[in-house]
Amino acid sequence: MATETEKTFALLQTFSTLSIISSLGLGLFCFIADRLFQFPFIQQNDWLRALSDNAVHGIIGMWSWAIVIGLKKKNDFGEIILAGFLASVIDVDHFLLAGSLSLKDALNLPHRPFFHCSTLIPVVVLTLKFIMHLFRLKDSWCFLPWMLFISWTSHHVRDGIRHGLWICPFGKTSPLPYWLYVTITASLPHLCSFIMYLTGTREMMSIKHGIHIDV
Ligand SMILES: [Zn+2]
Repeated sequence: MATETEKTFALLQTFSTLSIISSLGLGLFCFIADRLFQFPFIQQNDWLRALSDNAVHGIIGMWSWAIVIGLKKKNDFGEIILAGFLASVIDVDHFLLAGSLSLKDALNLPHRPFFHCSTLIPVVVLTLKFIMHLFRLKDSWCFLPWMLFISWTSHHVRDGIRHGLWICPFGKTSPLPYWLYVTITASLPHLCSFIMYLTGTREMMSIKHGIHIDV
C-alpha cells in the first residue's frame, strides 16, 4: 500500500517540469514530422508514406509512455517499446480487412477497419482492468490498460485529422483540426497520468519505476 508521501510524489511527477517540457517536445515532433512527410519523394511512394506514418504512430506511443513513467531505469525501455508497438500495430487491421498483404488493397477498403473504432478503447481498457482484477494481476501488469489507452488514443487522434473519429456504432466526427490533434497528443500523457493517480495505479508505478521529483 502506498504511503501518503508516495502518493504526493506520484502526483507531483505527473506535472513535473521535465514531463511538461517533454510533452511540448512531443507536440513539436508531431508538427515537424508532418512537415517532413510533405516531401514529394515520400508522398509519391505508397509504401514509404504508409511506413513513415506508422513509424510516427509508434514514436508518439513510445514518447507518450516515456512521459508517463518518467524514463529512469534501463528496464523501462521494454515498456516503451511495447507502447510503440501497440500504437503501430492497430494498422494491421487494414490488411486483415483487405484479406491481403497488398498495400493497394489495404488502402482502398469499403469501410474503416475494426481497430480504428474509438469505442473499442474504453471497452478494451475496462475489460482488461476487470480481467486483471479478477486474476489479481493488478500489481505486475497494472500499467497495461493505461498503456493501451494512451497508445490507441494517440493513434486514433492522429488518424482523426484525416478521417475524423469513428465512434461505432454511432457514426463518425468530422476531421479533427490540426491544432486539436497536437494539443490532445501533447496533453494525453498528463491526462493519463492523472487518471492513473486517481485510480491508484500511479503510486504502484512510482514505486516500480523509482520516485523522482523534478518540480
Ligand atoms: Zn491507423
